[in-house]
Amino acid sequence: MLELCSIASGSKGNAYVVGAEGSYLLIDCGISARRLSRALGRMGVALESIEGILVTHEHRDHVSGLENFRKKCPAPLCGTYGTLDGISRPGPGPTHAIEAGREFAVGPFRVHPFSVQHDAEDPVGFRVECEAGPVAFATDLGRVDGTVRRAIAGARALVIESNHEEEMLRAGSYPWYLKERILSDFGHLSNRASQATLAGSAHEGLEAVLLAHLSAENNRPEIALAGARRVLRANRWEGVKLLVVEQEAEGEVLVFR
Ligand SMILES: [Zn+2]
Ligand SMILES: [Zn+2]
Repeated sequence: MLELCSIASGSKGNAYVVGAEGSYLLIDCGISARRLSRALGRMGVALESIEGILVTHEHRDHVSGLENFRKKCPAPLCGTYGTLDGISRPGPGPTHAIEAGREFAVGPFRVHPFSVQHDAEDPVGFRVECEAGPVAFATDLGRVDGTVRRAIAGARALVIESNHEEEMLRAGSYPWYLKERILSDFGHLSNRASQATLAGSAHEGLEAVLLAHLSAENNRPEIALAGARRVLRANRWEGVKLLVVEQEAEGEVLVFR
């Protein structure tokens, strides 16, 4: 059995939980330790059952809760050298340096970190495998290349960035340098790019797609959802569960048997 739950997603903070056989992984820790602990408590996840805290990159919205959360949770912090180097306050406890392209084991999970293009030191996405099948996380990336496509192929559940609607971003109030950064190959994935990825990677075994890291200013959940739904329908994958993961509210716990 595989469990997946989004606790927060967006530029104000990100955190996800993956579970199998009573063990859990935390993916990113960008919200307050208090909020995270509460959400884990509601899910019935004991802090001792967390086997690893995996971070994708050192941006604040992915690591801001680390210091306080690690005072309570002894799980090792896993990140690339560049990411670990860039975290100013990682908190106490063991760290485990990982490398993109090199699989490692944590509890019942095999984790494959893969390089993504984003303006951080050495950012990665994660493909997490367990007996119930793989789940893939690809957020905070400017474009989807072959490495990403291979890493997310065949996933039972896919968490994919759908950050902005290009026209909304271009016409919006952000300063030009920020618009350029977001639109660049090292920025964030647009709805259109996200949908193209979905069209290329959806498959018969795909059961859930979570649209992640939506911009509060340059996107709307209904726009992102409608586009993704169109792609799934056009490819006869309308049975796939499609969700937008939210900034402030945790999502339902998805269970794959
Ligand atoms: Zn982010
Ligand atoms: Zn980032």
